[in-house]
Amino acid sequence: MLGKIVELIRLTATELSPDILSALKAARSREASYGAAQSIYDRILANADLAKEESIPLCQDTGIPIFRVNLPEHESAQNVHNILKKAVKKATKLNYLRPNAVDTLTGKNSGNGVGIGIPQVEITRWNKDYSEIGLMLKGGGSENVGAQFSLPDEDINANRDLDGVKNCVIEAVYQAQGKACPPYFIGVGIGGDRAGSMKLAKEQFWRKLKHSHPQLRDLEEDLLVKLNQLGIGPMGVGGSTTVLSVKADYLARLPASYFVSVAFTCWAFRARFLTIRRGEYTYE
Ligand code: SF4
Repeated sequence: MLGKIVELIRLTATELSPDILSALKAARSREASYGAAQSIYDRILANADLAKEESIPLCQDTGIPIFRVNLPEHESAQNVHNILKKAVKKATKLNYLRPNAVDTLTGKNSGNGVGIGIPQVEITRWNKDYSEIGLMLKGGGSENVGAQFSLPDEDINANRDLDGVKNCVIEAVYQAQGKACPPYFIGVGIGGDRAGSMKLAKEQFWRKLKHSHPQLRDLEEDLLVKLNQLGIGPMGVGGSTTVLSVKADYLARLPASYFVSVAFTCWAFRARFLTIRRGEYTYE
């Protein structure tokens, strides 16, 4: 199984999934011919081709590995956790991952991609008879521009309602000003406590479908239009697409709090899945 997880890491680090590639190609087609924005997309797409062809990382920052695992009852969670850590070490040795784990107190890089809390592993039990391992490689730049707001916030005219939520997201993307390699994918967490709100924002990156709640679906669609009207464009050079998708969800909150968290990922949205069913391994 170790080799199969290393392959999941290689695939995630070196090949964009078909839906992300299509979204980037569609964004390119919306830009003016021979303009700066189109030229950025040409470079992004050429880079993606090269990374796939040569099996090298799409970006020098291979990010923090985030594993999201669904396991049937009979599988040992500890065993899987240990294998994931070993796989990160091996993938780092093979240069699919950059050594990306730094001891926060000493400033020393472990050199093998593993440190306290890295990789991130979340294991859930489910009542299916197969295992599913999701991996996301989330770059540091997109982590740096993530933002959290506590409403009401007079500075951005945000009250405790969905219009206020929209103002928060627009402010976060505006403040990023092209840092962290747009076009972005945006996750929004509404309500909860501080930690729960940001966790929810990041969980949106795993969701492919539109939200089933009409109010949230409208919020996502409206934000996509408004964020792209900012004109920041790919890599901040200006253009019609600053954001490729917005996904939002909510939690209950305390009467005293109303948090809005905004998580970003860059164009190098690296997420893949491995399904293990009766000895067969399928990558998506
Ligand atoms: S933001 Fe994304 S594309 Fe830019 S350096 Fe970081 S990981 Fe790479």
